[in-house]
Amino acid sequence: MSAPVAATTWDELRQRLVGLPDGAGVNVAFETIDRHVVAGHGDDVAIRFLAKDDPPDAPGEAYTYARLMAESARFAGALRSLGVGPGETVFLLAGRVPRLYVALLGALRGRHVACPLFSAFGPEPIVQRMVLGDAAVLLTTSALWRRKVAAIRADVPARHVVLLDVDDQADAPEGTIAYGDLVDGATELAIEPTPPETPSLLHFTSGTTGTPKGAQHVHDSVAMQRATTEEVFGLRRGDVYWCTADPGWVTGTSYGVIGPLSVGATMLVDEAELDPTRWYSILDAQSVDVWYTAPTAIRMLMRAGAELAAGHDLTRIRAAFSVGEPLSAEAVVWGRDELGVTFRDTWWQTETGAIMIATPHDAEVTPGSMGRPVLGIEATLLATDDHGEIVLDGDGHATEIADPDRIGMIALRPGWPSMFRTYLNNPDRYAKAFADGWYLAGDLARRDAEGRFWFVGRADDVIKTAGHLIGPFEVESVLNEHPDVTGSGVYGVPDPVAGDVIHARVVLRRGVAPTDEVMTSIMAHARRRLGAAVAPREILAVDQLPITRSGKVMRRLLRARELGLPEGDLSTLEGGSSS
Ligand code: ATP
Ligand code: MG
Repeated sequence: MSAPVAATTWDELRQRLVGLPDGAGVNVAFETIDRHVVAGHGDDVAIRFLAKDDPPDAPGEAYTYARLMAESARFAGALRSLGVGPGETVFLLAGRVPRLYVALLGALRGRHVACPLFSAFGPEPIVQRMVLGDAAVLLTTSALWRRKVAAIRADVPARHVVLLDVDDQADAPEGTIAYGDLVDGATELAIEPTPPETPSLLHFTSGTTGTPKGAQHVHDSVAMQRATTEEVFGLRRGDVYWCTADPGWVTGTSYGVIGPLSVGATMLVDEAELDPTRWYSILDAQSVDVWYTAPTAIRMLMRAGAELAAGHDLTRIRAAFSVGEPLSAEAVVWGRDELGVTFRDTWWQTETGAIMIATPHDAEVTPGSMGRPVLGIEATLLATDDHGEIVLDGDGHATEIADPDRIGMIALRPGWPSMFRTYLNNPDRYAKAFADGWYLAGDLARRDAEGRFWFVGRADDVIKTAGHLIGPFEVESVLNEHPDVTGSGVYGVPDPVAGDVIHARVVLRRGVAPTDEVMTSIMAHARRRLGAAVAPREILAVDQLPITRSGKVMRRLLRARELGLPEGDLSTLEGGSSS
């Protein structure tokens, strides 16, 4: 059980793990699966899978901890039989199907580096990531093989391509291996000694501010993921837990696989894409206790209207959390008033591997604020210049901001277990992420007198106008309150007098035309709520906003388009290419 008081040292968090027998280290697969089987809970359901066509109240396919242990061990054995050794990288490209999870945990069990890719990626981002990550194996499905991989096979370094949904080798297209036959012939691999610093997951960042970076994590991470799952979510063995993020993103592994399984919960996985009616039905029918989702999803639920939740009992949800983008006060109030669900914010990054700043399940909610640093995390704000860059004095020291409500860059004292260990093939970029003994998060925030953090914006997105430093989110939240607006993107455009002037692009509610009357009403609303200095100078309606695959608004693209700057190739990666 979790300790009643916040832990203060990383070793205290590590003590919550059981560790491999005979002091042989820490392995994520052991901490998420085997420990429960060893403790006599092998029959507990680890994962309940709802297939696309399953109704929301279907029993789904249940994987007990014992089954997950056996199947992942057999898959790890299968990788060995293919001649894939520890430390080699296994890429996974598939929708949320059971074998994806089995294979991911099997790869970690065998001490391979696992790199899940979002299955909606096109061929180009797939090739670039696999080249940078030096893929030894690709696991995918026959449909994705046909649609995306076959044509680029010569460009990806993988020695083997395994098709998860093919049982019989006779049915596997040439050059691919059927998962079924491969695993049937394999023996279960016993976990071998795994020093805590053994590489585990490779995750690419979302690419919101630039080209995606490959963050390398290690098995030691599980200490932090388990502790935050216990302390922030209050999740316990036997709870039903639903993380709506795909394992292609760090949230979908840290808290869509590792954290919840490490505490022995039952994880719900839905293969289908977001559909508000289905989601409300699932939350009710599957008796979800703890729910982890994102502002993009909450915005979609808001847009669809709370009427859709009518008739569903959401009162059983004990705690709900959000991550990935700012959780606006408006969204918190909407959830509370319309759904009876209070969303709590969590802030972290691909690089941090686990939640760093949050409003835990038992903390009071201050709508609009992210909360406070969790567990032993030391977070501060460092002074920046007008461009959001850290200011260092002659001795290389940064200045911590002590006054409440002043904007600075979020910085974290390095050393927690789930911190990334490097950016793959990009040591320079990694080195730049640190200054004066701090990890620089690249996000700007304010801290109030009670120590709560309030997100302001990405350092790259922040706007300096008429002497104010403004985060686009603050302006977007106000625009999104207008009844005709369903989404917005705000950015700065250079101006000889004001520094930057603020421009906004808005998406209007379906069926609303961008008439003068509508646009004037949006502008009037912005001026009234923000004041003339901070309200956008220009607001134009667009059909859609540029967003990353993980659903984040790419303000830099709006700005680049307006200024006629090169947009950059979103699928291009830093730190390596095929050339
Ligand atoms: P890239 O680094 O490639 O630009 P990214 O930063 O979007 O992509 P992620 O690691 O997926 O990639 O996202 C982390 C970022 O998401 C944070 O740095 C922050 O800007 C944003 N974020 C995460 N949680 C929150 C939150 N609770 N409130 C506001 N922003 C958040
Ligand atoms: Mg980032």
